[in-house]
Amino acid sequence: MNANRKILFIVALMLIGLAVATITNVALNFRDYGYNNAIEKSKMTAEIVRDGLTAHMVNGIMDKREFFLANIANIKDVQKLWIVRSPNVVAQHGEGMENEHPRDAIDRKVLKEGVIVREISEDSQNAILRVTIPYIATAYGNPNCLACHNAKEGDVLGAISMEFNINDIRQTGAMTIAKIFAINVIFIIIALWVTNHYFKPYMRLFENLQNGIKRARTGDFSFRFTTSLKNAGSEVADQMNTLFQKMEETFGGIKHNLNTFASSSNISCSDPLSMAGIIIQELSDVYKFKKTIELDGSKDAIYARFVYVIAEKFGFKHFALYEVDKISKERKLIHISDGKSFCLPIADANAMECRAYRTASDVYSTDFPNICSNCANEIQYSCIPFNINDDLALILSYSAKDAHTIEVMNLSLASIKNYFEAAKAVIESRTLMDKLRDSSLRDGATRLYNRRFLEEFIDKSAEQALRSHITYAVLMIDIDYFKMVNDTYGHDSGDIVIKSLAEILQESIRKSDLAIRYGGEEFVVLLHNTTPEGAINVAEKIRTRFHEKKFRFGNDTIEKTLSIGIAHFPTTQADSIWKVIKFADIALYEGKHTGRNRVVAFEERMFNGGDEF
Ligand code: GH3
Ligand code: MG
Ligand code: MG
Repeated sequence: MNANRKILFIVALMLIGLAVATITNVALNFRDYGYNNAIEKSKMTAEIVRDGLTAHMVNGIMDKREFFLANIANIKDVQKLWIVRSPNVVAQHGEGMENEHPRDAIDRKVLKEGVIVREISEDSQNAILRVTIPYIATAYGNPNCLACHNAKEGDVLGAISMEFNINDIRQTGAMTIAKIFAINVIFIIIALWVTNHYFKPYMRLFENLQNGIKRARTGDFSFRFTTSLKNAGSEVADQMNTLFQKMEETFGGIKHNLNTFASSSNISCSDPLSMAGIIIQELSDVYKFKKTIELDGSKDAIYARFVYVIAEKFGFKHFALYEVDKISKERKLIHISDGKSFCLPIADANAMECRAYRTASDVYSTDFPNICSNCANEIQYSCIPFNINDDLALILSYSAKDAHTIEVMNLSLASIKNYFEAAKAVIESRTLMDKLRDSSLRDGATRLYNRRFLEEFIDKSAEQALRSHITYAVLMIDIDYFKMVNDTYGHDSGDIVIKSLAEILQESIRKSDLAIRYGGEEFVVLLHNTTPEGAINVAEKIRTRFHEKKFRFGNDTIEKTLSIGIAHFPTTQADSIWKVIKFADIALYEGKHTGRNRVVAFEERMFNGGDEF
C-alpha cells in the first residue's frame, strides 16, 4: 500500500469510528428518552386515575368510573389501561368490576410488594412499555385514605397497569440515526476527497524522494525530482535536484578516478561509496608499505616485508618467492613458507625452465593440467612473474590442495601486484646501490673481491662460521718472480698474467668459495667446509693449471709459477681469521724459501712470533 492510500485509509478509519460512536450515542439517548418519557407519562396517568377515582368515591359515583377509565385509556400512546383492586379493598368493597381483577403475574407482584414494575417488550414491528404502579394507603394525603379504607398506613389498595406504544419514538430514533448516518457518509466522502486532493502531491513527492534516495544508495544520482506542489514543496524538489546534480558530477569524477585502481584490483562492490572506502584503504596500505620499504636498508629487508604481507595480510599458507638474475638466468629462492617446493630445482640453475619467467605471464594450474612441466602435478598452483628491471625479476609461486582454494587465493593477486608495483622502484634503487657497493668491493681488473671486501665482511663471516660450525681453508697465493715479467715485458704483460691467474682461480673453486685479490699479485682464496686434503688438492690444481698456462709476449713464450700457503680456520691455534691469513702467509713464504712453485700447509714449527696475535 503506498503512503497516500495509507493516509486515506487511516483518515477513513478515524471518521468511521467517529460516526459509529456518534450514531451509537444518539441511538442510546433516543431509547432512554422514549423510555423515560413513557414512565413519566405513566406516573402522571396513575395520579390522574387515582385522583379521578378518589373524586368518584367522594362524590358517591363510583359506579360511573368505567366511563372515566375508558376516556383516560384514550390518552395518546396509551394502548391499554386497567386497574386492579387489592384483597383489602375487595374484602371491604367487594370484587368490583369484571376487569378489575389482577390479570397477570406483574399485577399480583405489584399488589403484593407495593413497588413499581416496568417492562419493555419489543420485536421488529412493535415496542411496548408496560408499567404497573401500586396505590399505597396513607393518612397524610388529601383525602385521608384511611378514612374510607380499612387499611393501615402503607398497605397496597390497588394498582394501575398501562401499556404504552413507544414505537413512534423508536421510529423517530431510527430516522434520526439514518439521517446522521447519511450526513456522516457524505462528510466522510468529502473529507477523503479533500485529504486525497491536498495530500496526494505531498505523497507523490515523498515517494519520489524515496525512489531517488534508493537509487542514490546504489551510486546512481541521475534521478530528478518532480512535483506539482508550489512553494515549500517545489523548493524541496529543486534543492534535492541541485544536490543530486552535484553528487552526480562529483561522484562521476571520483568513480572515474577510482576505476583506475579498481580495474587493477579484485575489489568489486555495487555501492561506489563502499568501493571507494575499500580502494582508499588498500591504497593507504600500499602507500604505508612503500614508505616503510623506502627506509629499509637492503633488498633482503624488502623481500622479508613482502613475505610478511603475503603471509599475514593475504593469509597465504604455502608460497615461495624467487629472485631471477636475468643476466646469468639463475633463479634464487628467497623464501619458502613450508620448506617444500613444488617446483623442480632445474629451474634454479636455468630460469628459462621456469614457465612464468620464460613467458613473462601468469601461470595457473587451473587453466590447464600440467601447465608447467617442472611443477608437481598433484597440487594446484599459480606462478606470477614480476619484472623489476633489465637485470632482475621476481617470481611468486603459491599452491593449495584444491582448485577452489587456489582460485580464492588468485582473487588477491591484483592487490598483491599493487604491492609489487609500489616496490618496483625501491627494489631497483636498492639493486643499483648494491651494484655500486659491489663495484667498490671488487677489483676492477680481475672482478674478484678486493681487500676492502675482506676487511668488511670477514669478521662477520667468521663469527657466523664459528656459530654454525663452518670451516674455512685459507689459501695465500703469490706469483713467483713476478717482477721479472714487469721488468722484461712491461707492466701490461704483468697485468695479463694477473688476470689469467684470476680466471684460473674462479674456474678452480666452487660457488660457496671466495677468491680475493689481496694485493698486487697476491690472492687469498677461502674454501668453504674443506678438509686439509681437499684444500691441498684445490691448491695443487691452481698451481698446476697456472704452470701449464703459456704466455706469449712478443716473440717469447713463457711459463710462470706460483706458490701457495694453506692454513685452516678455526683451529686451536687460530680462532681469528686474520691470524689464519697470517699463518697462510707464513706457509707461503716457507714455499718461497724452499724453492717456489710449491703448495705448503702451515705447521706450527714455521711460526715464531705467536705473541703478536
Ligand atoms: P717473489 O717470487 O718473491 O714473489 O718475487 P716477486 O718478483 O714476485 O716479488 P714481489 O712479490 O715482491 O713482486 C711484486 C711486484 O708486483 C711488485 C709490483 O711492481 C708488481 N705489481 C703489483 N701489482 C701489480 C699490477 O697490478 N700489475 C703489474 N703489472 N704489476 C704489479
Ligand atoms: Mg708479492
Ligand atoms: Mg711474487
